Order: sequence, then C-alpha cells, then structure tokens
Amino acid sequence: MAKWLRQGPAKPLSPVRIRPTPESPSDEIGRHTGLKIPGTQVRAGSSPASGRLFILMNPPIFDSHTHIDMVISKEVPYQTIADKMRENNVKGFIQIGSDADAMLFSKQFCNQENDFHCYYTVGFHPSDAGKTDFNAGILFARENIKDKNLVAIGEVGLDYYYGKNSMKEQLEVFNKYTELALELKKPLCVHTRDAHEDTLQIISKAAKETKVLIHCFTGGEKEMRDYLELGCYISFSGIVTFNKAEELKQASKTCPLDKILIESDAPFLAPVPYRGKTNHPALILHTAKHIAQLRDLDLNDFCNQVYKNTKFFFNIEI
Ligand SMILES: [Zn+2]
Repeated sequence: MAKWLRQGPAKPLSPVRIRPTPESPSDEIGRHTGLKIPGTQVRAGSSPASGRLFILMNPPIFDSHTHIDMVISKEVPYQTIADKMRENNVKGFIQIGSDADAMLFSKQFCNQENDFHCYYTVGFHPSDAGKTDFNAGILFARENIKDKNLVAIGEVGLDYYYGKNSMKEQLEVFNKYTELALELKKPLCVHTRDAHEDTLQIISKAAKETKVLIHCFTGGEKEMRDYLELGCYISFSGIVTFNKAEELKQASKTCPLDKILIESDAPFLAPVPYRGKTNHPALILHTAKHIAQLRDLDLNDFCNQVYKNTKFFFNIEI
C-alpha cells in the first residue's frame, strides 16, 4: 500500500465505522479461541466433537466496480477498508475512472497499491454528458494504453432516469467511448438505467468484437436475457440483497453462472445489513453470500466461479 494512502482522518464518521459483523473472521476467532490474529484471511474455531482447532478460508472475492476515491473522500480511512478486505478475503477491485479527477487518481492509486490487485478503467459517466468535455477521457485512455493497470473502458452508458434532458449528448458520448473500447481492444463497462432499448442498440455491434459488462444490473429476467443473447456479462451489486428487489433476485438466480460478476459500486448501494451506510469493497461478501444462497450454491463454489469470470472478463492477473 502506498504511504499516502495510509493516511486517513484520525476519527472516521460513525456511519462508516466498520464494525465486525457476526460472521467476520476476527469475531469467530475471538469467540471460539480468544485469539486475535489481525489481518488473517481465515476463520478459526474449535470443533466441539474433537476439541481440535479448525481453520476455514473465506473464498476469494474480487470487486468488479468501485469508486474508492469517493469512499475515501467520505472520510473512511483506506487502512480500515484494507483491513476489512483482508478479513473478508477480498483480493482487489476495479477502480472506476469516470471523470478527469477520478482517472488521474485511479492511475496513481493502482500503480502504488501493492497489497491488493487494483486495476482501473477510463470512462465518462452519463450524468456528466453535456456538462463537461468528454474528449479528455478518450485522450487519457489513448495516452495510457500501455499501462498494464488500465484494463477497461467505462463506466459509460445511458441514464434516462436522471438525464432525460441530455439524451442526445449521452448517446453521442456512449457511441464515442464504445468506439474507443474497440479501437483499444478493451472490454466495456456499461451503465444503463431506464434506457434498455438504446443501450441494446449501441452495444449490439460492440459485443461482437469485445467483452461487454452490464455493471450494477437492475433489470429483470427479460432485460437480462437480451444482454446475454449479445454475449454480455452481468454484474450484480448490493441492490440484489434489498427486500423489494424481487425481479433482480430472480435474475440473479437464473443468470448463467459463467456470466456473473459482482461489485460494490461503493460508496453507494451497501448491501443488507449495511444498507444506507457508506459502502466499501469488503462488504461485497454479503452480496456474494446472498446470491449463493438464492441459487442454493456453496459460497466457495459460487465465489470461485465469479472470481474466474472476473479474471477472464478483465484479462487480469489475480
Ligand atoms: Zn459506478
């Protein structure tokens, strides 16, 4: 970890203070053995039958979409997040550089962070369409294409929920960045909200030539099938854990296992039981557990497959 990343505010705000969850490793260790093993990736306890110590690894998890710059700006010390990631065996994340400041931060961060596997993207968020110059990201991506940590273009896409007045500009930007992904031969991370038909139309050509991920998928089975038919990958966020997200839960149950990625989209969308709090990559364990449970799958099997999918999608060493 870079030295400057270790610095955080002396006192984190209370909503973002990370408390041990009942299933957290340090808790388990403390409860059963009285031992404290900081930073371990194991769960330990004593078997009542044998009285012998057993150790269980959490499965490896990778966060396919996070805004760690925004998490840190919410006064969460990075050290706290890093400790919790180690406990939950979160191996790293894709840091999203979707505006000029974020891409500079992302490049610097990923090139200095050695404790986790951190890679970044370059994109342009649809909510900025028509407000700022979208060409800066295109130039930045071209200039940094040899950086091994720059692994995808995104997030880019369409958001007609918030951006009804900028549909024309959003379409232009989305088209330009889709072309960029093809030019640079990088996968594309797509943000789409209330814009299913237009999204399908734009990615249908791109999906034949590069991998496309529907990040923070929020639709139902029908929309998901449309994307899957194009060969897209589907990324589920903490929303899937929300009580009323019935259609999304159903989609997460039926999505082919080799097409699933998971993400925090931190600092937003913290999964239950942290809903409403500042999100961070370590909490993705709760999203993984929820989907594995919905699918009646062993958590290890589910996480191992998602890990493989992530590695393949971004073409990264993790
Ligand atoms: Zn995002």
